Amino acid sequence: MKFEFETPPAPGDIRAVCEGIQWLYMPLPFALDHVNCWLLGEPDNQVLIDTGVDNPATRKHWTSIFAERGHWPQQTLITHFHPDHMGLAGWMENEGGCGQFLGSEIEVDIALLLSDADGASYSALYEKWYAQNGIPEEALALVRRNGNTYKMVAGRPPPSSRWTYLQDGQQLTLAGHDYTVLIGRGHAPDMIMLYRESDHVLIAADQVLPSISPNVSVMPRLMDTNPLKSFLDTLERLRSLPEDTLVLPSHGLPFRGLHGRLQALVEHHDMRLEQIVSACHEPRSAHDLFAVLFRRKLDPQQTSFALGESLAHLHYLQKQGRVERMDSEGLTHYVAC
Ligand SMILES: [Zn+2]
Repeated sequence: MKFEFETPPAPGDIRAVCEGIQWLYMPLPFALDHVNCWLLGEPDNQVLIDTGVDNPATRKHWTSIFAERGHWPQQTLITHFHPDHMGLAGWMENEGGCGQFLGSEIEVDIALLLSDADGASYSALYEKWYAQNGIPEEALALVRRNGNTYKMVAGRPPPSSRWTYLQDGQQLTLAGHDYTVLIGRGHAPDMIMLYRESDHVLIAADQVLPSISPNVSVMPRLMDTNPLKSFLDTLERLRSLPEDTLVLPSHGLPFRGLHGRLQALVEHHDMRLEQIVSACHEPRSAHDLFAVLFRRKLDPQQTSFALGESLAHLHYLQKQGRVERMDSEGLTHYVAC
């Protein structure tokens, strides 16, 4: 991979990254400490891509960027429902008067569903899911205490009536440039990427990240029961883009060298799948496999991503007939066939 810049812009600063696209770097209060947002076009015709989470620091950055320049973006495109991408969409509408939102209907529906879920039912769903997969009591207690964690960092998105929904393969003109919508699956159910054919620019959202492997998760409420297959299929599809594509990822630095990165991500998952099959020589819960999948110690906040990722690999192997699922006394285990 070849990086275009050695460092990101400071939070609240704007940096031109290629023709007609500016890079904004928003802090996140998580282990993953930032998200990249993109601003397309000139102040009188601007499209913002993703918003960061809903917290005072991010609101302050957007206020200083847009209010001080006297222009809020005319359109806001949201790549997927995760709070670091959609968290301030509703605020953009109310505060900035952004009237038009572009996104995926599936992603918007999930965000609305999560925003409207009450704390008790949100906790109950996760608690049941954790317990079934062998997660220890400490993390279950945290789930009970936290309630709806989505709402902690994401405001309610604009209602369905404010959105224009995009489809895979759709041609779109944004701030004077033509883009093709590419739907990425596996990290989120229906994530929007944009490809600009004229000069080979890919706004990749969380599908291809330069320094971490995007989280691929089975999650309660999400319909995709084999997200790792969906993710790998999307990576395969991206191989048809030119090697000199400039990749603008949502986390990490813009880079070229797409094919090598796609290959590394595929090999990463292949290796994890083999390690899981070996570990399942005796029955294992999804939680037992955390030690195989994650070298670092996980804090309880990361439990849902870790469990989702472990299950994504197990479901993939189960569909291939390489592991078998066993349910007994409310606990699920997997064993190699
Ligand atoms: Zn993200």
